[in-house]
Amino acid sequence: MIKCFIITQILCVMAVGLTAQEANHSHALGTSMQFPNIPGYLTLKCDFHQHTVFSDGEVWPSIRVREALMDNLDAISLTEHLEYQPHLGDIPHKDRNRSYQIALREAKDHALIIVRGSEITRAMPPGHSNAIFIEDANKLLFNDYKDAFKEANKQQAFVFWNHSYETPKNDNISFLYDANKQLMDSNLVHGIEIVNTHTYSKEALQIAYDRNLTLMGTSDVHGLIDWDYKNGPQGHRPITLVFSKDRTQENIKVALFDHRTIVHYDNTLIGRDSLLIPLINACLNVKKAFYEPKSLVLSVLIENKSSCDFILQNLSEYSLIESTDIIEIKGNESITLHFRTKEKINKLNWLFTVLNAVNAPNSHLSMNKLISIN
Ligand SMILES: [Zn+2]
Ligand SMILES: [Zn+2]
Repeated sequence: MIKCFIITQILCVMAVGLTAQEANHSHALGTSMQFPNIPGYLTLKCDFHQHTVFSDGEVWPSIRVREALMDNLDAISLTEHLEYQPHLGDIPHKDRNRSYQIALREAKDHALIIVRGSEITRAMPPGHSNAIFIEDANKLLFNDYKDAFKEANKQQAFVFWNHSYETPKNDNISFLYDANKQLMDSNLVHGIEIVNTHTYSKEALQIAYDRNLTLMGTSDVHGLIDWDYKNGPQGHRPITLVFSKDRTQENIKVALFDHRTIVHYDNTLIGRDSLLIPLINACLNVKKAFYEPKSLVLSVLIENKSSCDFILQNLSEYSLIESTDIIEIKGNESITLHFRTKEKINKLNWLFTVLNAVNAPNSHLSMNKLISIN
């Protein structure tokens, strides 16, 4: 009760004291995450895999909404297990859409988007999969898993394979079984979690690239977000950044089918070059590049417009004064880099590796940024 009161108070301050714009840029709210938009698309922060007491989670759906607001998320889905309902004796419910309905009511005065979803929960293979943007969870209950996948697709759901590394061998290595291949070949599965909870799977990332699947990262939270993540080494829950034309469910779904995602996990961005480059370009904004009078040292002021701390490796021919080749630019902070350019130059085509951007298994993104010097 006391906890709820405190959370309500914080949310009231957020709603009354700040405009939506200001709230987006506040640093003080929970684990609030921020990412700038990229040319042509909004950058939406989403967590499409969560549980409540309506399956094996430990909280009421309204708490999931409040946690998402604290984290500054744009869209969530409460994906209760269809086939695993351990709290049914205490919380009987016939309608498998209840947690969605309660979350929707809680979110009604906020911009947070609630997507209807469910977790198709079967032994591996095919393992667990989430179906989101479904119309009715009750209609997904079947004996044969294939019927559940077919019905989800009939409802035009986006379906992704969860924690694929949870194999019967217990080796934590994602493996594409025939059952999974068949679902993918039939176009009944469209994405794969490369991150779930505290696990990143490079094998899952490779499967995503081999099978042309959408990259997903989710919290799969059962307890409390703050307990599991804010106090943990990662400091924030895993999320999927979705690059959408607008804030409608329709276009978020289009973006997911079009593979327009980056996973944000453990202060790292994981995704395809085509999206990592514009996102990191938008995050690292060069505010000023100049020479002090009578100096041959180039000053470049860079502001980080995201909550992600970036770790860069300088690959340019010019060395840096204060740093080795490794530079850290903290989230929401600015830094001035000093390059030894030997003579005055008019522009710098700065080449660097983003050590905390993964574009393929064991590979980090290298990119360049064209900097004009005034
Ligand atoms: Zn699961
Ligand atoms: Zn789950």
